[in-house]
Amino acid sequence: MKIVVDRARCTGIGICEAIAPTVFEVDDDGGLVLLSQLVPHGVAAEVAEAVEGCPTLALRLEP
Ligand code: SF4
Repeated sequence: MKIVVDRARCTGIGICEAIAPTVFEVDDDGGLVLLSQLVPHGVAAEVAEAVEGCPTLALRLEP
């Protein structure tokens, strides 16, 4: 699965980083950095939780 970020929606709150820090990182300017474009093995549940937990609906998964 591929992780897609709608940068127009992302406000850099960092909830995704708190849930799945191996995949999401908010830089010093509040920009979201994807540490992996694809969902790594072993963290699919965390990534799914982060996608669902984003308050601005900025994240989605694509096949
Ligand atoms: S939780 Fe959503 S709005 Fe917050 S940094 Fe992650 S993608 Fe952006």
